[in-house]
Amino acid sequence: MQLPQKVLITDVVARDGFQNEDRVIPTQDKIRVIEGLVQAGVTSIEVTSFVHPRVVPQLADASEVIAQLPRHAGVSYSALVPNIKGAQRALAAGVTELHLVVSASESHNRANLNRSTQETLAQLAEVISYVQQENPQAVLVTCISTVFHCPFEGRTPLARALWVIEGLLKMGIRNINLADTDGAANPLQIWQTISTVKERFPEVTWSLHLHNTRDMALANALAGLQAGITLFDCALGGIGGCPFAPGATGNISTEDLVHMLHEMGIATGIDLAMLLSKGE
Ligand code: ZN
Repeated sequence: MQLPQKVLITDVVARDGFQNEDRVIPTQDKIRVIEGLVQAGVTSIEVTSFVHPRVVPQLADASEVIAQLPRHAGVSYSALVPNIKGAQRALAAGVTELHLVVSASESHNRANLNRSTQETLAQLAEVISYVQQENPQAVLVTCISTVFHCPFEGRTPLARALWVIEGLLKMGIRNINLADTDGAANPLQIWQTISTVKERFPEVTWSLHLHNTRDMALANALAGLQAGITLFDCALGGIGGCPFAPGATGNISTEDLVHMLHEMGIATGIDLAMLLSKGE
């Protein structure tokens, strides 16, 4: 079996997880959780989203979270940015890694971003050139939601994913996150899709974002590993979900993925015992 020796985990609990909680979690509690992840050895954390506070009130404190988080050498904090307004707020708060988002399926893009996929791609081009102008050092990652499956349309045709990827490449994007937004992909589909895109677009650095709706996230992670993925999103405690993907449940849990990787001799740099104590 072809497997990497090392994997980089990005924990998204503070964004994907907390956005989906019914109650608003106090800023200080968010910071305590993020600090716990850092103590356990997590070096990449998506800490918030600069989405409009009316749309996702749970993350209305995005700027405060960034401002109050202690900085640590070797630890990178990223934030999701849905549009140019969000990019302005993120850069003003000092965010240096921005995660943009577009859905491969039309219906989910409309539900999530209130416009067509094509319109979002056009808007992303503006966001990207704005960010590059304001902070040429900023890292830009684009997440393609519903790249495998859509809660409204069913299985996403590979051609549709390829079309979105080509659009992003034209804008200079080289970091792409493939998201199984509603947790409906299967390991064979994951392996086939990733093998195809890796071969077709060798200039891209790929990461994988899995949800565990049908208990297949670990199997999908293994398929991703075998296809050569070394960057994974996951969430402490396996919480999370997309408010615009009915029926979807939490992310692949950080504890489960780290446990599986360590059992297979793949390094993550994370102290699992300490991680488990932080997840309680
Ligand atoms: Zn997600």
